[in-house]
Amino acid sequence: MDEVRILVIDDEQVIREGVERALTTEGYSIAKADNGAMGLEMLQNQSFDIVLTDLMMPGLDGFAVLDWIRENQPHVQVIVITGFATVTKAVSAMKQGAFDFVGKPFTPDYIRLVVKRAAERLRMQEETARLRVEKKRGLEAIDKSESRLKTVFACMAEAVLITDAEGVVVLHNPAAIKNLEIQTDPFIGKPLYASIRDLTAVAMVEEVVKNSSAVIREFKPGSISRKFLRAYCSPVITEQGNVVGSVTIFEDITSQKEIDQMKSDFVAMVAHELKSPLASVEQMIYAVQVGCEHEQSAACHTLHSRMTARTKDLLRLIENLLNLSKLESGTVVFNLEAVKGDDIINDVLEISRPQAEAKHITISYEPCDEEWWFKVDYDHMRRAIINIISNSIKYTPEHGRITVQSKVSAGFVNLLFSDTGIGISQEDLPNIFDRFYRVRGKATRNIIGSGLGLSLVKEVVATHQGYIDVQSTPEVGTTFTLSFPLVQENGTSIKNEYIYT
Ligand code: ATP
Ligand code: MG
Repeated sequence: MDEVRILVIDDEQVIREGVERALTTEGYSIAKADNGAMGLEMLQNQSFDIVLTDLMMPGLDGFAVLDWIRENQPHVQVIVITGFATVTKAVSAMKQGAFDFVGKPFTPDYIRLVVKRAAERLRMQEETARLRVEKKRGLEAIDKSESRLKTVFACMAEAVLITDAEGVVVLHNPAAIKNLEIQTDPFIGKPLYASIRDLTAVAMVEEVVKNSSAVIREFKPGSISRKFLRAYCSPVITEQGNVVGSVTIFEDITSQKEIDQMKSDFVAMVAHELKSPLASVEQMIYAVQVGCEHEQSAACHTLHSRMTARTKDLLRLIENLLNLSKLESGTVVFNLEAVKGDDIINDVLEISRPQAEAKHITISYEPCDEEWWFKVDYDHMRRAIINIISNSIKYTPEHGRITVQSKVSAGFVNLLFSDTGIGISQEDLPNIFDRFYRVRGKATRNIIGSGLGLSLVKEVVATHQGYIDVQSTPEVGTTFTLSFPLVQENGTSIKNEYIYT
């Protein structure tokens, strides 16, 4: 505490000076007023910690001074100075809020003692006020961190469930109601089994409390809720080592499980697709071996070409698989360049013609009147278009017809690939772009394929900001339409009037 400032109000000079003498040696700062009015004026203009005031003064007396101080400066400690005859008055002054009184005559030691006690009280009051401020600040901080925790708890995507040692729910977050599909209201205050129908979940909490050790369990859809949940259940242990409850966090792993399932399905499909041709190649090798032993060279030759064909199929499948996974993982670097549309189409038609001719299928190209350009990776785009045309050839019976058309409009080119083939039913149409999807039926039974071609086409089209569409009528034919944005010959984009106007 800084220097204690004392005001002495007394109409008797000897008292004022006596007090001053007794107290200055203690290091207090002393001011004096010789009547009540002057004392009040000084109190209003300066600040004091302790006031020693005579009770009986002409004019404004000590009681009036005391009243004013209590009213206006309640922190100031008042000590009344009074003669023996007025002890009762001193007592009533104390009732009015004076800290202490000093009877006249007094010794310097006594006055020092009383003032020291008042100063001590002041210090205590200051300390209390400081502590109060600190406590308030501390409470505010706790309040803030509590509300932060509450917000985190409320916003967590994972369901959190807290029970006591008896398995009664004591706290949960909103996600618990949603993810655990709780119907019971209120949920808090009731045993877990009242709201969670899966008894293994209830047993899990009991086990954790009993064994005082954490467990991780998975709950299939249909057990606790429709979701696949992974629960992390841990005991709540006090500092003394007592288990007083449990905390369980339920994580929704439905999509994780779906991805896992897709991965296993994919591996199973790939294994199947690789296994059957390999098995037939193995059988043919054996037959060739037997044939060679009996010098059946013609039969060996046939088997040899069939083996070569099967091996080529396998290699194509593996190549498609690798391409697809590269495309899907986004690791393919596209070498985009402005390509003249007719060039790439004529290139593809030239490559595909022998395959079509082998089945007496005619392929014709009906280009649009104007020259058009699009920005593509030549190899990827050529492979995609080959896939479409090779499908048309594969799924069109002998003597059929394939027509390729290019139509330019509104900044886009539409490439139409129509065939007079076996067509695709409405049920199969939405699936043909899925990996390994092949239409099963009499018409496709003897046609070799892995079901990867169109997935590849779809990826390539998407990476070129294009669209793919298919229309088909079974036993009539199929038309695939690929659309791409056009560019100018130098590769700069063409303003698309439908989008920009
Ligand atoms: P891959 O192309 O990998 O050798 P695939 O031709 O069977 O095998 P996709 O090209 O992905 O695989 O085609 C998927 C399925 O869509 C085919 O199995 C076939 O049933 C059907 N399909 C595709 N194109 C046509 C078409 N032009 N006419 C009739 N059916 C088609
Ligand atoms: Mg195909």
